[in-house]
Amino acid sequence: MKAEPYLHTVRAKETDAFSLSLRAQAEAADIPIIAYDGLCFLQQIILMRGVNRILELGTAIGYSAIGMARVRHDLEIVTIERDAERLDSARQNIDAAGFSSRITVIEADARTLDPNTLKGPFDMIFIDASKSQGIHYFERYESCLAPGGIIVTDNVLFHGFHEMTIRSRNLRQLTQKIDRFNRYLLTRKDYHTMIYPVGDGMSVSIQLR
Ligand code: SAH
Ligand code: MG
Repeated sequence: MKAEPYLHTVRAKETDAFSLSLRAQAEAADIPIIAYDGLCFLQQIILMRGVNRILELGTAIGYSAIGMARVRHDLEIVTIERDAERLDSARQNIDAAGFSSRITVIEADARTLDPNTLKGPFDMIFIDASKSQGIHYFERYESCLAPGGIIVTDNVLFHGFHEMTIRSRNLRQLTQKIDRFNRYLLTRKDYHTMIYPVGDGMSVSIQLR
């Protein structure tokens, strides 16, 4: 038996009614939120490294921010989203989860927002906005990373692109950019990076001191 089908039988499943309702809400609106095992992976990183403050790029409806906030009662998250409608849903969901005091939602374009306006530093940055902009986000926001902090990026194996023949030109350009980002991480000798086949693929880069 391959690892994946076996792990499926021994991994925790998402059973919480509120989380499931958020997942259903995202699916109905065709919004790509993080896979459940990806969320568990983030939670584990937070617990392993004693992360206190997180910057998230790409809030969508607040699913991942709420999921991360849950794992520690003193965790603070600043999360950025440019889509006003999604932001509305996120604010409502964060409020319903009771996390309004710990999760700050900012309406902005992460490509142009000045990181100095954010109340850094952050122990962890979770990059989950436009998939084509990985290098840009990494370089733009590392200035507000605490020394020895960690940058996690989602969707770095985007739908298993490495084993597909991609006919659409747009999609091919996107996956080429993701591949370029993954290789870029290798060149950053000031970080220790690993790419994990969890969820849709997640990279973890720890800043070396
Ligand atoms: N982190 C969420 C999912 C985010 S989906 C979760 O797992 O629950 C990606 C989100 O990034 C989308 O809602 C999209 O609107 C937003 N986004 C894409 N490009 C952006 C940009 N340049 N600035 C801010 N948000 C962006
Ligand atoms: Mg994602």
